[in-house]
Amino acid sequence: MAILRPRSEVSQADEEVRLAQRRAVMVERDLRRRGIRDDRVLNAMLSVPRHRFLTPNLAAEAYADTPLPTRLGQTISQPYIVALMTQAAGVTNGARVLEIGTGSGYQAAVLAALGADVWSVEASPELHGEAAARLRDLGFSAVHLRCGDGTLGWPDAAPFDGILATGSLPERPTALLRQLRPGGVFVGPIGPLGRQRLVRLEVDPPREREETLCVCSFVPLVGAAGWRSRTDQEG
Ligand code: SAH
Repeated sequence: MAILRPRSEVSQADEEVRLAQRRAVMVERDLRRRGIRDDRVLNAMLSVPRHRFLTPNLAAEAYADTPLPTRLGQTISQPYIVALMTQAAGVTNGARVLEIGTGSGYQAAVLAALGADVWSVEASPELHGEAAARLRDLGFSAVHLRCGDGTLGWPDAAPFDGILATGSLPERPTALLRQLRPGGVFVGPIGPLGRQRLVRLEVDPPREREETLCVCSFVPLVGAAGWRSRTDQEG
């Protein structure tokens, strides 16, 4: 016997299938072919529905490799950058990872999909609340979220295996680096507003290995160890 479903439900399900197909194309074309080699990262990017982290009018653009506006003048990074940062952090199952700048919650979801124990701080109460609801709806309720200034990290939850800054910092983030375990990795954009180096820092005191992944332009992290304001050139 045929089971009839309401038309709206059918078209919604069709739309989800179409978006999943576009996501698979994005992973192959924009990530694997551009050098993202870690299959675990590729699988995580395949599994997280980026369109659900955007306002519905932008869902159709979710799988273009471009940053997109979210709310309150913020952006969600382009998928390639999310994959690159995640790969560079070397996130393993069960690793404790701190993210600064929860934003939409997309990067946190990708980390959680990799099996990480994710801690994420967002300065905006509105964005924090929306991300918390979204992550819960999508089944990522184990992610630890806090509203506040993340430029000073999350000392009570330290040490972390990895720290990802998803907004820019004016200089080397000393306070954050102290919250890494020996051998831990920081990944984030450091440098002037509008043009930063995406840096990977592996810290094993007294040794430190620094690598520049690419040149990039992230929105600023505004806080005690970040920028003074969103337009401040001095930090
Ligand atoms: N990771 C996000 C994108 C982050 S955009 C995603 O996947 O969607 C940068 C975010 O950092 C913005 O949401 C901004 O509100 C937030 N932010 C700015 N200054 C901050 C601070 N000091 N601490 C925590 N979050 C901050």
